[in-house]
Amino acid sequence: MAKTYFYYSAMNAGKSTTLLQSSYNYKERGMETLLFAPNFDDRFGDPAIYSRIGLKKEANLFDKNFNLFDCVEKETEITGNLRCILIDEAHFLTKAQVAQIITITKRLNIAALCYGLRSDFLGEPFEGSKYLLAWAEELVEIKTICHCGKKATMNMRIDKQGNPVKTGSQVQIGGNESYYSVCMEHHMGGVESIQKYALTGGSHVSH
Ligand SMILES: [Zn+2]
Repeated sequence: MAKTYFYYSAMNAGKSTTLLQSSYNYKERGMETLLFAPNFDDRFGDPAIYSRIGLKKEANLFDKNFNLFDCVEKETEITGNLRCILIDEAHFLTKAQVAQIITITKRLNIAALCYGLRSDFLGEPFEGSKYLLAWAEELVEIKTICHCGKKATMNMRIDKQGNPVKTGSQVQIGGNESYYSVCMEHHMGGVESIQKYALTGGSHVSH
């Protein structure tokens, strides 16, 4: 029976690249896949999953009211041998959608590979991640490192001046802030070193 996998990490760990590689691996073995991404991720303006190393693949977009089970069930009638769904930025799923994913794996026997962040820049869990951590049968950490060399488990939002942002909404669209993946120590108090790192132009993505 197919299972739900949650591949979790901090920012910039290469989740989208891993997702696209996994999809490719299925297809290479003659199995079809279906890709999903949140529709408010408008960084590039078209329905696709991009990885930072330049890969791209068309994706179905979901919003909070989208029913993943209905969509996938319908798709099995169109696409023969659909064996796996892959969800980018799965932290944006609702509790109901995580439940739909679990149902897809058990009723349709289609594997679900979900990729997302555990927590936001304030350390608060996202709804999707909370239920994926609770319900996914397989939890897999995609590791990335803080600028100090320790494993990064947290995300930090940095403003244009290089200062950590301590308040604000969970989702910032079109802002000028950047995100850094950091270890717990640096998330809690390493403001100074983060500022230095930001000023030297460390790797980041703009949202
Ligand atoms: Zn650190």
